Amino acid sequence: MIYEVIVDLATNDLDRTFDYFGDDISLGSRVVVEFGRKKMVGFVIGEKETTQYPDKIKPIVKVLDTPIVSEMLELMHFMKKKYNLRFIDALRLFVPSKMRSDATCELQRVFITINNDIDVAASIEKLSARAEKQRETLEYLARGEGEYQSELSKKFGAGAVSALIEKGILKSEKVSVRRTPFSNFSCEDVLHKLTKDQLNAVKAVASGSGVFLLHGVTGSGKTEVYQTIIDKVLTENKTAIMLVPEISLTPQIFKLFRARFGEKIAILHSGLSEGERFDEWSRLYDGEAKIAIGARSAIFAPLKNVGLIIIDEEHDSSYISDSNPRYDTKVVAKFRAEFNNAPLLLGSATPEIESYMKASSGEYNLLTLPDRIAKFQQKDIEIVDMGSEFRNGNRNILSGALVDALRTIIDRGEQAILFLNRRGFSSFLMCKECGYIPKCDACDVNLTYHRAVARLKCHYCGKNYTVPNKCPKCGSEHIRFGRTGTEQVVNYIHELFPETKVLRMDVDTTSSKGAHFRILDDFGKGKAQILVGTQMIAKGHDFPNVTLVGILDVDFSLFLDDYRASERTFQLVTQVAGRAGRADKEGKVLLQTFVPTHYVFRLAKKYDYNGFFEKEINSRQVTKFPPFTTIVRILFTSENDELAFSETKKIYQILKEESVKNKDFVYINAMRSPVNKIKNKTRYQILLRVYPGNADSIIEHIYQLVATVTNEIQCFVEINPQSLN
Ligand code: ADP
Ligand code: ZN
Ligand code: ZN
Repeated sequence: MIYEVIVDLATNDLDRTFDYFGDDISLGSRVVVEFGRKKMVGFVIGEKETTQYPDKIKPIVKVLDTPIVSEMLELMHFMKKKYNLRFIDALRLFVPSKMRSDATCELQRVFITINNDIDVAASIEKLSARAEKQRETLEYLARGEGEYQSELSKKFGAGAVSALIEKGILKSEKVSVRRTPFSNFSCEDVLHKLTKDQLNAVKAVASGSGVFLLHGVTGSGKTEVYQTIIDKVLTENKTAIMLVPEISLTPQIFKLFRARFGEKIAILHSGLSEGERFDEWSRLYDGEAKIAIGARSAIFAPLKNVGLIIIDEEHDSSYISDSNPRYDTKVVAKFRAEFNNAPLLLGSATPEIESYMKASSGEYNLLTLPDRIAKFQQKDIEIVDMGSEFRNGNRNILSGALVDALRTIIDRGEQAILFLNRRGFSSFLMCKECGYIPKCDACDVNLTYHRAVARLKCHYCGKNYTVPNKCPKCGSEHIRFGRTGTEQVVNYIHELFPETKVLRMDVDTTSSKGAHFRILDDFGKGKAQILVGTQMIAKGHDFPNVTLVGILDVDFSLFLDDYRASERTFQLVTQVAGRAGRADKEGKVLLQTFVPTHYVFRLAKKYDYNGFFEKEINSRQVTKFPPFTTIVRILFTSENDELAFSETKKIYQILKEESVKNKDFVYINAMRSPVNKIKNKTRYQILLRVYPGNADSIIEHIYQLVATVTNEIQCFVEINPQSLN
């Protein structure tokens, strides 16, 4: 049989297979092949009867193991079709990097010890004089507790080791001793009696299939629901995958799940070393661990017999991968859930508009947890009008109301979280007196300020405008780009409350490994009274002593040039506000804004998700944005500007012609990308919006077109991209 093998995943960027022959090798096997003059690790992804090069092909040297099971092979083909994903990229997602390059890295770890009843000295005596290596092996083992077979073979040769095993001097066993990350995190498991709503949710998911949307306000006990269902799934001898956004992978989550499930969980986290990642992966592959917890890439966990997939904070933008390989985690999760006939559970306090629409229409099953578990339900958010503060002479970062509130919690010995928004690199223009923000005439989205050219630009159509020096609405000259840094806030608090300890959490303070955890841990232990931070502090943390949350400059997020700006802002405010008053003390949330009457804040103030959804879904329908259309961006980048331009134009013209005939096209345009150049490569893009019904066939056609573009240009097709920069 001829096998199609992908080789040299570590460095090769060519997405092609090479033919080798062999007998009876399963697809998905990891093999050693001769490639040029080198031996390399490869993966068998296809088989056929004949080859184009019958006299040239070589045999497969060795079959190592089969890390890719049939489900994942099917997923690979699905992702190729859906996302134009290359096989090598799929393999990079499916198999830990250690296994992709290292043939000695074994899936089954075998541990070698000296048999209990063996007298080492006597055994050495009996060995023949030529068995030098065997003697060394024995002497080595006699000094320690034992060693992995792979290590031992590397040191003394595989022959010596197996000879000693055959003689009954050494014994081998498959072991589960692996580097388990965060094994020192543990706490006591608390089993709660579920509330009626929690119980309903558990019952529905545990006995059903399809997609479930669990809409539960922050602090409503979603985690408890997840754990209970996972427990049920395990008793049926099935496995589970739980995804959380990377920044919610905190010690608290690890502790909670370790307490309940012990060694049955494996954690896949971007902070793991290559070795740790491989070990966690193998524990899942072997079935030793039955629950994979991790950020989006954990959806590729090598679990068999998956009985449940959970996506917590399902609205989070990190579930969409917008750099290579590009995919939507939810789409992959749906594939795996359907393949395994398992339920997919999406949970959020502020579901994505698209998910909630599907739940309303009955495509998803809607489950709700309307109440907080804690004694106090959430009090309305207090909106502070910063324009009025400004007019009254307070030009500081913190409003009078927030300073007063801080003083109160400091006196009471409680804690506060101050949140600053920090998203994207571009900025927008806003009038500090009336809150006016310039918008594009043609697109009704907010304009972005481009410092390099000192102009305002629309990221959707490319049109650009001069920067006004006076507010066109109220005539004020205080029209500018205002952003505050976390450091500035911390300094200001030091001035106001010199005795109070403050922690800061942002990209600067969390760049070293583990820093993120340390800060949260310190704050949880009460080492500081105030935590000032960015997005990283918005989610998933349960600090019982936090009774005040201040939201400082969320306006920025409201006016991002993104059709999801309102949705994102509503989610952000709700998430951050949810950090206050989670235990037995009542919480207070203050939101500072220059646009206090904006509908997003009016609705977020009362945590009115349904009201927000109604408004948002109507405006999406009118403006023809997702979920009523699918956005496709085709990005062309190259060092050859002329060529990139002409290729963009060529593809654009083909699609433009098609769009005239095809009524599924809503919009199409070609332009320079808002960020013209990255690393000396110019960037052009074609933006399309198409009706979702036939989007797949249009997108497949686009993949075919893109394949005709010369290799000098890199082309990326993105579906509903997170950013259009
Ligand atoms: P969410 O994930 O919805 O924000 P959590 O799962 O963190 O909410 O729950 C909030 C708090 O309520 C946690 O401290 C949790 O231990 C507690 N809790 C959850 N369910 C129950 C219950 N049925 N009875 C008592 N306490 C509960
Ligand atoms: Zn104004
Ligand atoms: Zn525009």
